[in-house]
Amino acid sequence: MRHRTVVHSSGMPILRIPRRSRPSGRKLRVVIVGAGFSGIAMALAMKRAGRADEMLIVDAADEFGGTWRDNTYPGCACDVPSPVYSLEGEGSDWPRFFAEQPDILAYILRVVDKHGLRRYARLGTEITEQRWDPDTATWTLDTADGDTITADVVINAVGPLTKAVIPDLPGRDRFEGPAFHTAHWRHDVDLAGKRVGVIGTGASAVQIIPEIVDDVAALEVFQRTPSWVLPKPDRVFSSVERALLTRVPGAQWLVRTVTNQILEHGVWRMLERNRFASGNVRRAGLANIRKGISDPALRAAVTPTIEPGCKRILMSNTYYPALARDHVAVHPSGVAEVTPTGVVTADGDVVDLDVIVWGTGFDAHKFWAPMKVHGRDGLELGEVWRRASTAFNSVSAPGFPNTFFLLGPNSGTGHNSVVMVAEAQADYVVKAMDVLRDGTVDWVEPTVEATRAYADEMATRHEDLVWASGCGSWYLNDEGVNDVLYPGPVGHYQRRVADFDRSAHHLGRKGVVAPDEVAVPA
Ligand code: NAP
Repeated sequence: MRHRTVVHSSGMPILRIPRRSRPSGRKLRVVIVGAGFSGIAMALAMKRAGRADEMLIVDAADEFGGTWRDNTYPGCACDVPSPVYSLEGEGSDWPRFFAEQPDILAYILRVVDKHGLRRYARLGTEITEQRWDPDTATWTLDTADGDTITADVVINAVGPLTKAVIPDLPGRDRFEGPAFHTAHWRHDVDLAGKRVGVIGTGASAVQIIPEIVDDVAALEVFQRTPSWVLPKPDRVFSSVERALLTRVPGAQWLVRTVTNQILEHGVWRMLERNRFASGNVRRAGLANIRKGISDPALRAAVTPTIEPGCKRILMSNTYYPALARDHVAVHPSGVAEVTPTGVVTADGDVVDLDVIVWGTGFDAHKFWAPMKVHGRDGLELGEVWRRASTAFNSVSAPGFPNTFFLLGPNSGTGHNSVVMVAEAQADYVVKAMDVLRDGTVDWVEPTVEATRAYADEMATRHEDLVWASGCGSWYLNDEGVNDVLYPGPVGHYQRRVADFDRSAHHLGRKGVVAPDEVAVPA
């Protein structure tokens, strides 16, 4: 078979993939729902396979970019290094090691334009419902504006962190000043001279607090659980480094590979509760506190008691110094109630505020909601996944033929780049769709048995990892199930989805449904 070599933008050959002189077999109508990183990864995988003309990319928003289009809060940046938080073969002239939101969004849009993806996109189109018709083996997608789209295959790339959560605290809606979530930053609200409350101290809040601290009259930080915050090994690339990285063949590939290896073999060990790796994180975190804060009471208040990695490890060189400022107060008990003029903490302190920033995270468990997905036999995805979402190889579910999820159940990573996961899934989905092309099969769905075995394996692997060590986090759902993260290194997952296993699937013709009964939890 002839091969085609994919060349990194830096010039390094990175991949040899079979070349098909012309894509063969039946053409499919493929709808990719979502125009963020994973939707773009899918579109590029289809382009590489010579199938670009089969796809339609839809997104509720008017622009590509997903979370990096939506999150525009002050200080918004990636806490995963850019060399790995980027698409394979799509290197970039990154200004720094940890890119900031404007640079990431610009990168995404450059990739979109370079590959001409806009011509396959229908933006400003929200999908509200998806319905499988077994008689025609097609999906019908309803749009919010009353239109319908017919597809042979639907790929949901809707992103895991889009459902902003504002906790249902007593009085939440009584606050009379501006109150907004970090993901919906109100740039029209001038914080200068205001008493600002930031509720939550997760990944978003630790980026925001140092950025706004100089503007505000008072900053009240409501911390429920302190997280481990490590020094951020960030650096602005010098002009010489940028020249080397963009002009020397293979330089970006080398940096990507080395960075990936450090995350996969170094940071991953901490998640396995390796004592040496965890000890290093503890020492670095405690040193970061000592360096940034001199007040013993404040040091004690921000010192985590959870195991490193149980919640996402945060990184900042400026967070602790910001907390140490005279006009900043840390309330270590969380919030019990919201009043018209501020909040009451769980300790009973009444705190007056002009503005509330909800840094209270996202619901990663119902990532597809409020969209309704109706599969075969009257199955509805939200009901089937009521207790926990489970998908074979993290991408497809029994009862939902010809549907795939990118960055869906058990796809996240606590130590490395989800962009690499999305790319592996996109290549896998291209292979899965190939089984539909020879004209003998109209639909494919994983067996219940294979999916259950996969879910059992996920649960067993999770038992030994640090996020099962007793803390609460957005990784765990209400039942305590981690249906968000993949319990292994990214390389482990990449190998697992390198091939499509027909024996783990039912395949059939239109008018016929798979024999498996899918359990709907009570
Ligand atoms: P998060 O990490 O889930 O943090 C939410 C914060 O809100 C936590 O401190 C939580 O406290 C607090 N909270 C939740 N409910 C509360 C309540 N009822 N009362 C008081 N406090 C409450 O959310 P996030 O900061 O938005 O980050 C979410 C994820 O987005 C990150 O883990 C990361 O994957 C992603 N993200 C990534 C980047 C990046 O650089 N790549 C940047 C930002 C976000 P508890 O800990 O006690 O629950």
